[in-house]
Amino acid sequence: MIRPVRVRFAPSPTGPLHLGGVRTALYNYLFAKKMNGKFILRIEDTDQNRFVPGAEKYIMDALNWAGLTLDEGIEQGGKYGPYRQSDRKQLYKQYADQLVESGHAYIAFDSKEEIEAMKTAFASPENPSPSYNFETRLKMKNTIALDKHSIEELQKNNTPFVIRIKVPKNEEIRFEDEIRGTVIFNSSQLDDKVIFKSDGMPTYHLANIVDDYLMEISHVIRGEEWLPSTPIHVLLYQYLGWADKMPQFAHLPLILKPDGNGKLSKRDGDRLGFPVFPLNWENPETNEHSEGFRERGFLPEAFTNMLAFLGWNSGTEQEIFSLNELVDAFSIEKISHSGAKFNFEKALWFNEQYIKKLSDSHFLDLLKVELSKTFPQKQFTDDYVLKAGNLIKERIVFVKDITEKSKYLFENPNYGNDILQKISPTITNVFSEKLLSHIGNLPFNSAQELESNLKQFAENEQVKIGDFMKFMRICIVGELSGPTVPDLMILLGKETVCNRITNCSNSITQ
Ligand code: GLU
Repeated sequence: MIRPVRVRFAPSPTGPLHLGGVRTALYNYLFAKKMNGKFILRIEDTDQNRFVPGAEKYIMDALNWAGLTLDEGIEQGGKYGPYRQSDRKQLYKQYADQLVESGHAYIAFDSKEEIEAMKTAFASPENPSPSYNFETRLKMKNTIALDKHSIEELQKNNTPFVIRIKVPKNEEIRFEDEIRGTVIFNSSQLDDKVIFKSDGMPTYHLANIVDDYLMEISHVIRGEEWLPSTPIHVLLYQYLGWADKMPQFAHLPLILKPDGNGKLSKRDGDRLGFPVFPLNWENPETNEHSEGFRERGFLPEAFTNMLAFLGWNSGTEQEIFSLNELVDAFSIEKISHSGAKFNFEKALWFNEQYIKKLSDSHFLDLLKVELSKTFPQKQFTDDYVLKAGNLIKERIVFVKDITEKSKYLFENPNYGNDILQKISPTITNVFSEKLLSHIGNLPFNSAQELESNLKQFAENEQVKIGDFMKFMRICIVGELSGPTVPDLMILLGKETVCNRITNCSNSITQ
């Protein structure tokens, strides 16, 4: 029977979601939607020591921003809930006990110090850091090594204990990975992982397997850093009698630093000046602030499109895909086997493309948000804002460039000495006066007509056309960038243009 597709994104709320985490969520989402399956969020918070306040909300906000709608989760509910592992706490112990009863797990009473002492005692040049495993377990304080009486003594004294999986010696553990093909581990490489802790909580390994089983997860799509844990998971499925319900695994390649040298980290972002988190994050312990892609100005559609291509491609030339188009085009077979280098320039390119594609009404909404932040007191008509936006739409990377780089569209510029020095000495006060009265009679309708008229004027006045246009640009923009002068004149209108020429000319003479 074909299993219904049910996939989960299962982050631990230990901090903000990194780019790689959002990509894992995205691939799970795309696969679920493609297969008419369900996309589930499960919060894996069994490690109380690593709990970070705000992280869970951050994860949900980030998925929401990226458009990755959940079918089941903490807020959505669902019949497989609860979806937060700490709320499922009472569920796990029975499975750990079942493993102890069947002899696949055992109780261990060793303190941290005793484990350290074992590592020192058994360390050798070939094995500098011995594990708690088939070689060492018999020399430790556990229910396999100790006699009945000693165990009873320890229990009577309420000695803290953990439960460890009993990993066999020298057995081949193999599983099929949808991306890597057959993966084989030798069990002797593994240690007897703790599956249940002394604080009464399961560890990641046990909780993850129990929940994937109970939530009927069909495919586990996760980062490649979890590959070394998978043989333990395979054993747990076998030992719990769930081998036929084991999900298909797909381990995603890493997202690498721009130079390809290792995994992309927050420090690379800090060093190279780009975000690695989807949304802003304030570290509650250090108060350190990290900027998110959203706050940098990325459109969510551009962000997810860019992210999809970090480790996957459609096999065609097409690069711009809406989320729905990604769903149609997505397949696990097209995920690459090797790491994907993060390229911030490419991310900017994606945003530029999405800005160009914005509808007038969406663009207007976004522009108004930026304007209300920068000019809270000022009112502009929608018509003006949209015209101003459209004039620079082709040249901006972020919507906020309209206020960060093109303020002159909404307020008169200031003229610094640096820019005034770029005005040719042939532009005199007398020339400005003449220009103002000339412009006063000009119709501001067609950019083309304005341009030829202004050229004619410069010629008549024997001022080089290049010098003249530079002057006009400096008056209007306050610097040497921006759209064409006639386009700007039509947008701003005669009064504003004349005022700016007057202000600029006055600044030269001061
Ligand atoms: N809780 C793990 C994490 O933080 C989940 C890994 C998995 O998907 O199994 O990524």
